[in-house]
Amino acid sequence: MKNFQNVLFATDFSAGSDFAFDYAYSLARRFSADLHIIHVINEPVDLRGFYVPHISFDKLEEEIEEGARKMMDRFRRTHAADYDKVVTHIVAGIPYDEIIRKATEVSADLIVMGTHGRTGLDHVLFGSTAEKVVRKSPIPVLTIRCQED
Ligand code: AMP
Repeated sequence: MKNFQNVLFATDFSAGSDFAFDYAYSLARRFSADLHIIHVINEPVDLRGFYVPHISFDKLEEEIEEGARKMMDRFRRTHAADYDKVVTHIVAGIPYDEIIRKATEVSADLIVMGTHGRTGLDHVLFGSTAEKVVRKSPIPVLTIRCQED
């Protein structure tokens, strides 16, 4: 029987990923696995060609990171406060790349994510992050479609 020791859950704090969280949480608890929760801050938009003072750009990055940290703290408090094997990660980059990188780094046995996130393009089978992770990850991926009714 497969023994899950590290489960990585990816969240963009959308309803779609919230829905998927129950699956990651239940699996992790059933196997007493470490539950890694990752949020990737999308790389800042390319502002070359515009004048943006360095100081305001740095400040913007700090504020985005601070906001992400608060969202993650709230998520942990409201969804997983009673499980002490939770490890949170906030990184900046391209979401699918960073999700796969972190899953490899923590030796995840499984990645859990929603089929859709904030972009909410319901007519496509997978959102672009979900699709790229499924296509490129060497680690098995469990994608969950949000049931809205
Ligand atoms: P998407 O492919 O962007 O529609 O999102 C599908 C799923 O990918 C979401 O439900 C999340 O589980 C995950 N995801 C999307 N964006 C991020 C992100 N920035 N950080 C972590 N996970 C993400």
